[in-house]
Amino acid sequence: MQKAPFAVLFILLFSAAAFCQATPEFTVKKVGEGVYAAVSPDRSKAGSNAGFIVGSNGVLVVDTFTNVASAKELLAEIRKITNLPIRFVVNTHYHLDHTGGNAAFSDSGAVILAQRNLRGWERTENLKFFGPNPKPEDRARVESLVLPDMLYSKAVDIYLGARLVQVRYMLGHTGGDSVVLLPDANVVFAGDLVWGRHLPNLIDATTDAWIKSLDQLLADHPAATFVSGHGEIATAQDVRDFRDYLITLREDVGKAQAEGRSGQALLDTVLPELKEKYGDWGFFDSFAARNIQQTAAELKGEKKVPVPAADR
Ligand SMILES: [Zn+2]
Repeated sequence: MQKAPFAVLFILLFSAAAFCQATPEFTVKKVGEGVYAAVSPDRSKAGSNAGFIVGSNGVLVVDTFTNVASAKELLAEIRKITNLPIRFVVNTHYHLDHTGGNAAFSDSGAVILAQRNLRGWERTENLKFFGPNPKPEDRARVESLVLPDMLYSKAVDIYLGARLVQVRYMLGHTGGDSVVLLPDANVVFAGDLVWGRHLPNLIDATTDAWIKSLDQLLADHPAATFVSGHGEIATAQDVRDFRDYLITLREDVGKAQAEGRSGQALLDTVLPELKEKYGDWGFFDSFAARNIQQTAAELKGEKKVPVPAADR
């Protein structure tokens, strides 16, 4: 009898070790000449996907994971490939899982670039991910996030020596999202505008604008490789499937609302419909109910989304 707790403990430790081995924080995948995606499994400490582009005179990093330790691991991976300076970091949006490691790169002199709205949101809007009463240490973490050094409004082109990198503002996911385009390799770093076979976080979303942004991306880059913000590297077909999820969600919620349903009754109607089509996608259990509720609020015109500082 006395040995049982030890046995249980051993099994737990063994499972934890096996689990850690089975889920590394991220995997670096080459998606073009000098273009790399850092793809994280769900619920890894890194928290999201990132990537980097090697030009002839420097490196541009796309997103910095959730924390500085993971970002330093990304820096170490970059150093296995090139010793060129890290000149730029682009934050695709303000969410903590894409900006939390900024310090790892700003400390060594990289310029952090983002769409104009990020600077006002990064240290304020991120607090909501810790609930109505964030713990002091979580508040301190959010309030000490490294902000972008350089802001753009609609579009900016960056030359890494001879290599052109285009950063473009697109609506839908937060109101401050950037995509990073690499024309010479036909790669699109889409940030959280694209989730690869995963349900998205719609906390800040305007889904009608998001669908239009995805249509635009598909029209402009029909054969690109898309690095998603979460999930695997995506093809144009994966992007179409993701766009169709947003369309289905809006249609199913809109239909239930037209039938007079709201609250739990609306959820009970729409959730099984979504599960039938998308139950095998990542984050279904975490996000499906909230996706429905947030889309219901959006369709009723009651959804709150972050407001740019200039418009407050
Ligand atoms: Zn994310």
